[in-house]
Amino acid sequence: MVESPHIVLDPRFNALIFGHTKLEKLWTGARWAEGPAYLPAARHLIFSDIPNDRLLRFNEDDNTISVFLTPCGHQNGHTVDHEGRLVACEHSGRVVSRIEHDGTHKVLASHYQGKRFNSPNDIVQKSDGSFWFTDPTYGIDSEYEGYVTESEIGGSYVYRIDPSGAVTALITDMKKPNGIAFSPDESLLYVADTGTTHDPSFAPVIRAFPVKPDGKTVGEGKLFCTCDAGLYDGFRVDTKGNIWTSTGVGVYTYAPDGTLIGKTPVPEIVGNVTFGGPKRNRLYIMGQTSLYSIFVNTQGPKYC
Ligand code: MG
Repeated sequence: MVESPHIVLDPRFNALIFGHTKLEKLWTGARWAEGPAYLPAARHLIFSDIPNDRLLRFNEDDNTISVFLTPCGHQNGHTVDHEGRLVACEHSGRVVSRIEHDGTHKVLASHYQGKRFNSPNDIVQKSDGSFWFTDPTYGIDSEYEGYVTESEIGGSYVYRIDPSGAVTALITDMKKPNGIAFSPDESLLYVADTGTTHDPSFAPVIRAFPVKPDGKTVGEGKLFCTCDAGLYDGFRVDTKGNIWTSTGVGVYTYAPDGTLIGKTPVPEIVGNVTFGGPKRNRLYIMGQTSLYSIFVNTQGPKYC
């Protein structure tokens, strides 16, 4: 009998997994692995090793790892935009940036109302071309993940970068907004709050914010789920609307109605996940020091 790598808590989870696939440990050697993003054209997974100020590249073709960029502004979260370009949240750069098709580094946003961002953390692109990102203070709180300095803005917000470049603050009532993703129809914006790292009175949660009909703003957020093992950092939503999120003990999977339907234990704290592979059915998992993956019976969005 092959032991499943998953724990099924709800029958709906059975349709999303294979009981016979294995959690594969692909590489180890990071201090804090984060920010996975899959580049379909290259079949590369790019991810961050934040304290070491470097990006690493996993090549699916031959299972090798190499350094992609160092120093890198202590990059944290990434996404791949609708033209296949890598978009980065830079802790010490304190900007959102993109690698253009010709290889040049372009800053997409650096300030809100004339003040520098804290340390952009995680990001997603909406179908209208805008970018939505979180800006907690982890990259300015310590010398480990960036450089210590005061917050110019004085709060940790969620922002939207319009295709014109204009920056607006969308959510200002979270302690430390962190992971961020849309539901498949973009009617909901999910945002994790890791504020418990600074104030234990803030529960580790993911909130769901209704996107207003203008497509550019959100209504009041509702509690979607609360973590019982560490906290939620980064997460992704599959094409069926299920949330696959990092926790302190592995990956938790939630149905769109907020039910915890399954767990995938990982022997390290997990900081983020993303979908990759040519069929986008390979879940890449960022353990604290190691890269893992497991094939699942669902798919991630085309770019995430
Ligand atoms: Mg994060």
